[in-house]
Amino acid sequence: MSSRMQGSTLQLEADVLVIGGGPAGAWAALTAAAKGSNVVLADKGFCGSSGATAPSGTGVWYVEPEARQRQEAKMSRYLMGGRLAENEWMDRVLEQTYENMNRLGGWGYSFPVDPDGGIFRRGLQGPEYMRLMRKLVKRAGVKILDHSPALELLADEHGVGGAAGVSTQGGDPWRVTAGAVVIATGGCAFLSKALGCNVLTGDGYLMAAEAGAEMSGMEFSNAYAISPTFSSVTKTAYYRYASFYYEDGTVVEGAGSTKGRSVIAKKLLENRQVYARLDQAPADLQPLLRVAQTNFFLPFDRMGIDPFKDMFPVTLRLEGTVRGTGGIHIVDETCATKVPGLYAAGDAATRELICGGFTGGGSHNAAWAMSSGSFAGEGAADYAIARTACR
Ligand SMILES: Cc1cc2nc3c(=O)[nH]c(=O)nc-3n(C[C@H](O)[C@H](O)[C@H](O)COP(=O)(O)OP(=O)(O)OC[C@H]3O[C@@H](n4cnc5c(N)ncnc54)[C@H](O)[C@@H]3O)c2cc1C
Repeated sequence: MSSRMQGSTLQLEADVLVIGGGPAGAWAALTAAAKGSNVVLADKGFCGSSGATAPSGTGVWYVEPEARQRQEAKMSRYLMGGRLAENEWMDRVLEQTYENMNRLGGWGYSFPVDPDGGIFRRGLQGPEYMRLMRKLVKRAGVKILDHSPALELLADEHGVGGAAGVSTQGGDPWRVTAGAVVIATGGCAFLSKALGCNVLTGDGYLMAAEAGAEMSGMEFSNAYAISPTFSSVTKTAYYRYASFYYEDGTVVEGAGSTKGRSVIAKKLLENRQVYARLDQAPADLQPLLRVAQTNFFLPFDRMGIDPFKDMFPVTLRLEGTVRGTGGIHIVDETCATKVPGLYAAGDAATRELICGGFTGGGSHNAAWAMSSGSFAGEGAADYAIARTACR
């Protein structure tokens, strides 16, 4: 990889440039580097603590390779997503996710073990996961540019040939010319105030659209999550154990996490405050919920609220394409876009292929981030190698 300064501009040449250092970008960088490519990864924040996964715990669509289990796993979201998901893509993502999760275990990620010795691989703790990913990416020889948002893609005679941005720490510009670019800038939840979403302003969509890429499934991008009014944690899954009330303790009829969220929305729009209490969580499950999502409980603990016993005010936070499924349209199984040299992964890419019109939250998005990152990293590396060979 060549690197030089031109004036105050950092100039780098690479085979593959990855924009975004969440799970999708980290897996893309790792996979491209494993193919022998010189890789640069630029992140707007800090690769390892930036984006939606890093501060959260995520459920992962990890299913044993057993025919009946896989079929059930596919059918469930296929039906919820209006039968729009594609069988082949669901198979590929399930397979790649299974492989990547097992590799994480081999690389030192510490999965919980149950009393019978069974390893629980259906979830990841964001901070530990992303700390490990950063370490692996660095060890693979990838050059990481932290605090370095990409601002625009560069065109070359084939299509996309790099990107330019700025270091937010020193204010100096940077410019990376590359054989191929992977956009892994996450979704768009602009101004949502949801945890980890402060950096997710949809830059990748804009840059890709400017370069000629197409969007897909953007009509499925209106996901709203339940959150306490005093917190940024949008862990809607836990509200399956909630009952919803008015201030005087009477029940809000029809309100619920999965099917009754629109009832909550209507009440909030009528300026009626809705309260929740996780009073349907079985007593023996409550300690486990705490272990699985420590950061869910932090704001309650700070306020002296016991969410299993006390009512607390809730609101809905827009999570846009972070939980919705729309994104950059991909045209083949390498996660290539319509524009030569440009690839998309994670929330930046459409997840309709595995979720249809239903949210990817809960497990599918995490699986998609790691598998599409792997597909895009491999595709981008192959593309860059082929281009070098043609010169
Ligand atoms: C609170 C919460 C809980 C969640 N729980 C689950 C769950 O249980 N299961 C599940 O499947 N999914 C869950 N999700 C969704 C999941 O976190 C995302 O699908 C996943 O993080 C997507 O990974 P990503 O790498 O595409 O994007 P992100 O992890 O969001 O990373 C994007 C990265 O791109 C960087 N970036 C953005 N713009 C630029 C730019 N211009 N230049 C350079 N870098 C840029 C950002 O700094 C960031 O580091 C949850 C989301 C939230 C918010």
